[in-house]
Amino acid sequence: MNWSKEAEKALSRVPFFVRKRVKKRVEEEASRHMANEVTIEHVHTSQKRFLNRMEDEVKGFQVETCFGPTGCPNRAVNSDGLPQKIEQKLTHRNMKEFLKKKVGGPLKLHHEFRVSVSDCPNACSRPQIVDLGLIGACRPEVSDESCTDCGACVEICKENAISVQDGVPLMDDSKCISCGQCIQACPTGTLREGTKGYRILIGGKLGRHPRLATELPGIHGLEEALTIVDRCLDHYQRHCLKGERFGEILSREGRI
Ligand code: SF4
Ligand code: SF4
Ligand code: SF4
Repeated sequence: MNWSKEAEKALSRVPFFVRKRVKKRVEEEASRHMANEVTIEHVHTSQKRFLNRMEDEVKGFQVETCFGPTGCPNRAVNSDGLPQKIEQKLTHRNMKEFLKKKVGGPLKLHHEFRVSVSDCPNACSRPQIVDLGLIGACRPEVSDESCTDCGACVEICKENAISVQDGVPLMDDSKCISCGQCIQACPTGTLREGTKGYRILIGGKLGRHPRLATELPGIHGLEEALTIVDRCLDHYQRHCLKGERFGEILSREGRI
């Protein structure tokens, strides 16, 4: 649906973590009025509705993804239904009912458990500022194929993490962020996929006391990542007091 410039501007000021939901509600509002274009009046009306019915809007969790699955060339992994699998877990745990009991007052959107999945270290879905973040990662390794010293890998690596000496590619592990770009750039197959999966970040949040998430060591395959997600959710549900965010629990316990 088309949006007027004014309506678009108003939407851009909505906090990013509810923008998708607000956009959907505004478009529903415009459709109810058989409008061809979303106007600022539709935005204002649905904003009012949204704020008045905040508790109905709370789902108990949010799973955000980047635009990787729509064909982004930077993907280090194909997320293989990972966001959907995490969403199933959260649905199964009935997070809204859980939060209702824990919060003991009106539920707000900031109480929701937030997960964010990005398919590469560019991290467009901002996994550093949510309860649980997953970042797709692909570590290069050197195969038996001869290197022609073309320099394509060195040129594409933004981290300055790879060099070629006497026809041998050398990786600096302390700099490599496992984006996998050098593998795609290598024309000979000298660089190939090594460990592939997800980096996992825990305990990030915005709000009055923001903190960036802490990264767990390693790159984890799909099943292992899902097991870690389950463990984190178990811990969160077992130790959450009055709707604390995951990061607050872990800080209180001195774990991060
Ligand atoms: S995080 Fe990476 S894969 Fe996802 S949209 Fe951004 S650049 Fe593309
Ligand atoms: S995976 Fe990315 S960061 Fe690591 S060496 Fe290759 S291009 Fe550089
Ligand atoms: S891109 Fe491949 S062939 Fe070219 S220098 Fe790097 S490792 Fe060697």
